[in-house]
Amino acid sequence: MLLAHRIRIDPTAAQRDYFARAAGTARRVWNWALAEWNRQAASGQRPNAMALKKAFNRIKYSDPDWLDSDGNPWLRAIHRDAHGQPAHAPRFKKKGRSPDGFYLANDKFRLEGRSAVLPKVGRVALREALRWHGKITGASVSREAAHWYLAIQVDMPDYLARRRRTGDAVTGVDLGVTNAATLSSGEKIAGPRPLKAALRRLRIRSRRLSRKLEAARAAAGIIGRIVKGTRLPASKNRTKGALALARLQARIARVRRDFTHKLTTRLCRENQAVAVEDLNVRGMLANARLSRAIIDVGFYELRRQLRYKAARYGTHIVLADRWYPSSKLCSGCGTRNGVLALGERAWTCAGCGAQHDRDVNAAINLQRLATGALAARTALPEASQAVTRGAAAGPGPAGGGEVTPVRHEHGQQDGSGQEENAVHICTRNR
Ligand SMILES: [Zn+2]
Repeated sequence: MLLAHRIRIDPTAAQRDYFARAAGTARRVWNWALAEWNRQAASGQRPNAMALKKAFNRIKYSDPDWLDSDGNPWLRAIHRDAHGQPAHAPRFKKKGRSPDGFYLANDKFRLEGRSAVLPKVGRVALREALRWHGKITGASVSREAAHWYLAIQVDMPDYLARRRRTGDAVTGVDLGVTNAATLSSGEKIAGPRPLKAALRRLRIRSRRLSRKLEAARAAAGIIGRIVKGTRLPASKNRTKGALALARLQARIARVRRDFTHKLTTRLCRENQAVAVEDLNVRGMLANARLSRAIIDVGFYELRRQLRYKAARYGTHIVLADRWYPSSKLCSGCGTRNGVLALGERAWTCAGCGAQHDRDVNAAINLQRLATGALAARTALPEASQAVTRGAAAGPGPAGGGEVTPVRHEHGQQDGSGQEENAVHICTRNR
């Protein structure tokens, strides 16, 4: 089982400087490869990563673009693992917009207790020792505001990676805007409180920074959009503002991550099956009013954590696709009710007259999906016992940690009124 442990490191000033240069190099090489890829694709060739790598190795110590002002190849100062190449090309990395970082192959560094020995920079202090045991497969150095991290990827034997569950419940989780998560048990889990204050400060700081940018642009005589490649004159004040903003964003990310970790661990530890909605996050982000709230709760990160923790705890994850009408179905009688406005927190079922809390009702519907998926899976000879009693030893629970996507046809309505969740379970992809 592949697990990553991200450890804060305490580099010296010289090491920090090297890391920043290595990250810059990684970004630049990436962008070079991407431009080359696009150029080849546009001229009808079929670009491939190996050929690109060779091409780059031919030019990197000779091409004028890769020489410094003295005519020396500056890449020599950077370890070549940081010259990473993309296998395929998503998008350009822009300084300040994409996370700073670079990759290290497993044979290029070693750990010695609370420190790591990296090429070119030597010994770097770790804030904590590596938590996982197993084969180290690689690492990456990355920055978040002023802090640097070493994320170590470990291939941990399953018997070590497995965790014992404390419960066998089946829970539906409605991820929400007002409450971060509502469980089918009726419990509502609020998002972290320090976040609200920090977000207010974030708005203030970004406003301040954009005012500074505005002023700098006015001073430079730029009207409208900044042309690509334009550099505004450097300003200490603006740099300071940008740094303050980055620090705050990093803090918010930490608070959020911490909350998500606690929630996902708890869900996987206490349940044999958990159902959540597999929201179309990208589609929803287009909706400006919703987007901030969604980012707050970190839907995407939450599902990512659920997936890997489920494998450790042998918990079954059920993902209901976005057409599943979890908030419109009455969890009592199965009637599908009309469209609810997002603001409507409570509603009355047209079929049976039951009063529903929107989020709890949705969570109960999801719980039902999870029960169905679990029953379908454990109808096989190894009954649910295998899932429930799967301890931290042996080959582990059969198929524990599986993810079952549940598909629901958009707009389908079978008029029977009963159990609208006539879903079908499709291919499992781990
Ligand atoms: Zn009803």
